[in-house]
Amino acid sequence: MIYLDHSATTPVDPRVVEAMLPFWIEVYGNPSSIYGLGRRAATALEDARARVARILNCLPAEVVFTSCGTESDNLAIRGTALAQAGRGRRHIITTPIEHHAVIHTVTDLVEHYGFEVTYAPVDHQGLVDPQAVSAAIRPDTALISVIYANNEVGTVEPIAEIGAIAHERGIPLHTDAVQAGAYLHLDVETLQVDLLALSAHKFHGPKGVGLLYVRRRTPLQPIQTGGSQERGRRAGTENIPYIVGLACALELAQQDREAESARLAALRQRLVEGLLQRIPDMELTGHASRRMPGHASFIVGGVEAEGMLIGLDLAGIAASSGSACASGAATPSHVLTAMGYGQQEALGALRLTLGRESTAAGVDTVVETLPRIVQRLRGDQ
Ligand code: PLP
Repeated sequence: MIYLDHSATTPVDPRVVEAMLPFWIEVYGNPSSIYGLGRRAATALEDARARVARILNCLPAEVVFTSCGTESDNLAIRGTALAQAGRGRRHIITTPIEHHAVIHTVTDLVEHYGFEVTYAPVDHQGLVDPQAVSAAIRPDTALISVIYANNEVGTVEPIAEIGAIAHERGIPLHTDAVQAGAYLHLDVETLQVDLLALSAHKFHGPKGVGLLYVRRRTPLQPIQTGGSQERGRRAGTENIPYIVGLACALELAQQDREAESARLAALRQRLVEGLLQRIPDMELTGHASRRMPGHASFIVGGVEAEGMLIGLDLAGIAASSGSACASGAATPSHVLTAMGYGQQEALGALRLTLGRESTAAGVDTVVETLPRIVQRLRGDQ
């Protein structure tokens, strides 16, 4: 199989599995227990937190472990918004190309909690203009939330520039960095963010564990009630094996970040050029240069995604039309329509995302296979 859906998820690195194993069967204590077994689990937890904090360039106390990227986005947005609602701050700025974990959370705050939202527009390449974010700021703005790297079209947003604006105006900035974990730098000081969400399964860690960086003094109301774990910000017994796996996977990914990004960018170029030369009426979506290194996304004219995906699957190639969470839905992508693509065009979206196991031979197979599938679907032969 040729796996070209690394934006949806990645296989767990065997070194990560190895690191996780002792925490199920040997060091299985509850980190809140005071006896030795619990203390050993607590030590592993704090060690993982410190390792993550080094990568994010933050204090360990600013790292909150969660169950996934979706929970991290929910905690960041709901938690920060609700903490300020009593002070009359009920306005949120975001973009129309966020993941549903952000969009649906903001919509819920609007529909059920009296918040108002402004969507800063994006251009045809999916890029947010920091000046548009600046112009949207109001005296009652409680939060700005802008995705770091878009999952559907791979565009990398100017987070540090938006961070400078947010800080000058004293407004917390959240970034959904779920797609960025393996390939972009995560230094929260350079990025000037107050909240940053990550999910381990996007960088060869396990599914079902994530984290939220929360800058000191950022207003945050917990969204689930219970014990006082994670300094009262996220109740529930910490999932030690998964948290250890997250820290290990993040370290491994970030160690290889520069070399792997260069390798994937070259492979992506081979893929994009090969396909665009062979398939007429096909275009790259997203930004030409400001994009995730292994991310290629297209619109293929005159065909619908489903036919291409089935054809590719029959040829042993795993691909996607865009967001894994939205696949199966016959509605066109909200990201592509926000970028100015028509509804019909957006139905021809194809996303091919390379990763650690991708090779030039695999890319060449796709470049040979996809043109035949498209030709058949278009009824050209
Ligand atoms: N945000 C982005 C940009 C994503 O791509 C995803 C997953 O596809 C998520 C959030 C949700 O992460 P999780 O699957 O860990 O809930």
